Amino acid sequence: MKRLRKKILYIEDDLATRHLVCKVLANPGFDILEAGSGIEGLQLAEKMLPDLILLDINLPDISGRELATKLRSHPVLKFSIIIALTGANTPYARELSLVAGCDGYIEKPIDTQIFPKQIMEFLEGKREAVPETDRSFFQQQYQEGLVDRLADKVEQLQFVNHELIEKSDKLRTYSHKLENLLGIINTLQLSTTIDELRQTLVTAICEKLSFDRCAFLALDDQREYLEVTQSYGFSGKMWESVRSRFERNAVHCLFDSDQITLISTPDDIPDSSLRYTLETIASRQFALGILGTPTKKRTQLITHENIHQFFGQIEPAASINGSLDIESVNAHMQEYLSSNLLNFDGYLFVDNQHTHQPIYKYDLKILQTLLHSATLIYQNLRLRERLKELFIKAEQDAITDHLTRLYNFRYFTQQLAREKDRAERHHIPFSLLMLDIDYFKVYNDTFGHQAGDEVLRKVATLLMQNTRSSDFIARYGGEEFAIICPEMDKEGGQRIAEKLCKIIADTPFPNEDKLLNNGVTISIGVAAFPADADDGDGLIQCADSALYSAKRNGRNQVQLY
Ligand code: GH3
Ligand code: MG
Ligand code: MG
Repeated sequence: MKRLRKKILYIEDDLATRHLVCKVLANPGFDILEAGSGIEGLQLAEKMLPDLILLDINLPDISGRELATKLRSHPVLKFSIIIALTGANTPYARELSLVAGCDGYIEKPIDTQIFPKQIMEFLEGKREAVPETDRSFFQQQYQEGLVDRLADKVEQLQFVNHELIEKSDKLRTYSHKLENLLGIINTLQLSTTIDELRQTLVTAICEKLSFDRCAFLALDDQREYLEVTQSYGFSGKMWESVRSRFERNAVHCLFDSDQITLISTPDDIPDSSLRYTLETIASRQFALGILGTPTKKRTQLITHENIHQFFGQIEPAASINGSLDIESVNAHMQEYLSSNLLNFDGYLFVDNQHTHQPIYKYDLKILQTLLHSATLIYQNLRLRERLKELFIKAEQDAITDHLTRLYNFRYFTQQLAREKDRAERHHIPFSLLMLDIDYFKVYNDTFGHQAGDEVLRKVATLLMQNTRSSDFIARYGGEEFAIICPEMDKEGGQRIAEKLCKIIADTPFPNEDKLLNNGVTISIGVAAFPADADDGDGLIQCADSALYSAKRNGRNQVQLY
């Protein structure tokens, strides 16, 4: 069987060397392939799949190291034997060829006598690729490099790690605060009154978001009082709620001196003492939130970063320039807040005056979110409170007589039924008084309807003033009134009726002297449960009939059924 000839590829840019080597190798009968550049060599190798590749380390187009690496990563060529032909007999050149993944090296210029034998030995695997002496040298070189590189890497990693720890600390604080934020919003949603909301808000901002102070400023519905709810104290939080008559300088009193003003670039100020003041102020971290801005955005957060812009809104002259007067800036700020307080739901002021703890961007983000939610909840509660008021008013209206503010007829009949049930259950009596103004038509016809209304109102007031709070007084209709006197028998009812009759007769009324009769008087009929009737309607009939008797008998008097 014919033995296969070994294929040898020689990659070398120097033509003279290439010719020499090829000539030397032609003798033993190898198949020689030649390439003049790295790229050409690579293409030829991929096509011909040589058994051995001789490689010049210094090639013009691609470095020997790179070429060897490429060959070594080829699925078939990685099994070829790669021998570097290195010109410089230096450890560096040797290291280079080995580190690049060559199987060995042969020094240039070649020894033509032994070169074919050397190649044969490589092909048969007899030749030790690297001498023992070099091997330890390479290992040492490699390890030293490795140690250096490792040290660099460790340093890098330590730095990154440090950064990561810082970041993760920040993140942890942030996520903790975010969790707290959610908690706060949930709690706020449980508030049933605006007062409760304010208190929860300021307390939570101090305790859960770690601010030194949080104050909530708002005006009452009538815009007469400034209401301040605040939480403060950096060790052991306290809170208080104060209310004072609202004047323009009320805000100023609250944030006296320089607490509220904050300028971010005091460096621009030429006056050194003023600069010092501003620097001191600037170090105090604060944020001012506006709840429920009606026209523009819903909420606004003022911090040292946008205070310039804020001042711009207030008064252009007050914005920062060389001749800034802190007093005037402050005055403008206070004035702005005071005048605008009327238009907002309130102000939320936070600061870290005591601890000087900086307020980070994320703190502001959290505050902003909180402000948004608080505004919505605040406005919701406001609506709910308004609704409740309206509801109560509507309920009140439904049972009230508009002219006299006494109970109306409808409610009287309900109350009479209730009182009857109660009296029946407890076996107690009660009296019913029916009252009617005497000759009221005459009064009306003589002095006009409006004067008549005044009389009706005055009689109602007198009845209210001269009965017990447990007595129930209603306008029965026109100029008739009804009074239910609980736990009162007929004699008791009579006593009350006599008293009222006398009081009305004795009280002077407008125009009374011009009347032909005895002035404004009333007649009263009295009936009692259960003596006269055992149900409401029956009792009304009895009292009515007694009233009729009183009229017939000459008026200005009391009659019992
Ligand atoms: P008597 O002593 O018999 O009760 O005589 P009177 O004139 O008071 O009785 P009459 O029932 O004839 O007239 C009642 C008058 O009450 C008629 C009406 O002008 C007046 N009146 C009823 N409701 C109102 C009211 O809401 N306002 C005013 N100003 N007058 C009223
Ligand atoms: Mg009448
Ligand atoms: Mg009458």
